[in-house]
Amino acid sequence: MRYCIGVDLGGTNIAIGLIDLDGKVIIRKKSVKTRAPRPCVEISADIRDVCVDLCNDVGITLSEVEWIGVATPGIVRSGVVIDAFNLGWTNEKFEEIVCTMTGRPTFVANDANAAAYAEAKWGCGIGEESLIAVTLGTGIGGGIILNGKIWEGFNGFAAELGHMVIDVGGRRCSCGLRGCLEAYCSATALVHETRRMMKLYPDSLMWQVTGGNIDCADGRTAFTANEQGDFAARQVIDDFVNYLAIGIANIINIFQPSVVCIGGGVSGQGEALMRPLRERLKYTSFGTKDMRTRVEVAVYKNDAGIIGAGLLGIMEE
Ligand SMILES: [Zn+2]
Repeated sequence: MRYCIGVDLGGTNIAIGLIDLDGKVIIRKKSVKTRAPRPCVEISADIRDVCVDLCNDVGITLSEVEWIGVATPGIVRSGVVIDAFNLGWTNEKFEEIVCTMTGRPTFVANDANAAAYAEAKWGCGIGEESLIAVTLGTGIGGGIILNGKIWEGFNGFAAELGHMVIDVGGRRCSCGLRGCLEAYCSATALVHETRRMMKLYPDSLMWQVTGGNIDCADGRTAFTANEQGDFAARQVIDDFVNYLAIGIANIINIFQPSVVCIGGGVSGQGEALMRPLRERLKYTSFGTKDMRTRVEVAVYKNDAGIIGAGLLGIMEE
């Protein structure tokens, strides 16, 4: 069997998985607390220890693992973490440190890019050369895979798709600018709009869905009420989809990728989101008559980081 290890380093937890490269599955995983901010060498030592544990659990040695891939928050350029605010790191030679500690070839990438890579290799972009991932969560994350490789960009922070401006002078975004896609299509924005419309429409079914408590409104509320034919919920979903379609159309017009992969909590709505989105895209992207680009829901949910990190070695092969 061919093994590799994928490490998903987050601000709260470090999730590490031993991956069977031929079976395309995680055979065993473990998670430890990150306890950030901490020095890069300390976190790297924790990663090494868990890697050794995982190998022991299945009766192999770390030397039998082909490589270790790590997905980290922050800006990554050629294996160096230039800046990771929530870890408290600047210019850390993370790739080199983990490689020295473990004795295994090591590859480090930004977490959103790694998640996109998981989709490109084993997820909804399997067999394709290009995929753009858009993750609709608290914010909007992105990853660009071109010709089978992650596009980090000259500066190391390409694919900030959430900060594409879709409305000049529009809503205020978390980045300080106005009109970014994130201000319209993140889960946070969806919840905000849901609550705003609930206040405007006291008779909306969204009140029933939330048991009369506006604080219970979440990213699912409008979708649930919309299914029951609620007018205000319909407005929330229509607006959300219209804005998202503009963002996706811009991505398609620039890259013409094989696949646009939609992930994050909101993508859990599945066809209730994708059907109107695909319909809307017919009218918003250029050259739609010959459009072959697929727009799909992400295959991986929680394991995208581990899988994507683990597969980084394939990119270097
Ligand atoms: Zn922004």
